[in-house]
Amino acid sequence: MNVILFGPPAAGKGTQAKRLVETRGMIQLSTGDMLREAIASGSELGRECQAIMSRGDLVPDAVVIALIEAQLKAAEDAGGAIFDGFPRTLAQAESLDAMLAKLGKQIDHVIRLKVDDEALLSRVASRFADQGRPDDNPDSFKVRLDAYNRNTAPLLPYYADKGLLTEVDGMSSIEAVSGAIDTALAKDRLTIA
Ligand code: AMP
Repeated sequence: MNVILFGPPAAGKGTQAKRLVETRGMIQLSTGDMLREAIASGSELGRECQAIMSRGDLVPDAVVIALIEAQLKAAEDAGGAIFDGFPRTLAQAESLDAMLAKLGKQIDHVIRLKVDDEALLSRVASRFADQGRPDDNPDSFKVRLDAYNRNTAPLLPYYADKGLLTEVDGMSSIEAVSGAIDTALAKDRLTIA
């Protein structure tokens, strides 16, 4: 099964992805984590992306598509992926569909975590205080939120039209959000078919 966790930055996608890894043995594919690892390792890719990321802008589609492509087959062989922070543009969404189709797979569920902007701002302020992630500073976070609204939120109709989208109240407790995700995933169209 392949699941996209969809939502603005700091909506809780990473937290929920990690729980799905623990409970279902799925593989988390987080382009943000991959890019942060590239920066930490001092690779050329990391050096190229560091400034873009700390500003809060999106890195080029080709970069993240290549990162996903490099890990997709292994994730599919392991039973499926949880896409966390990918896709963020229509070009990424279309590439993902094409890459999966080549492997005879598809996206099965898109779970949208809905959190209002005020809650996001307060979550990210405390994450910045705790972890000091450079792109959690208020200016970069505003750019990230704008990028989500401009480039990523418009993908919602793409998945809604395919009948894949479930909206979950991301303002509830972590446990309640997990429960709502489990309910959504239980409606597996492959099982029903
Ligand atoms: P995240 O941890 O998912 O919030 O990602 C952190 C940053 O990495 C983003 O603000 C972007 O600069 C970059 N990034 C991560 N995933 C993508 C993506 N799918 N497309 C473009 N940029 C991305």
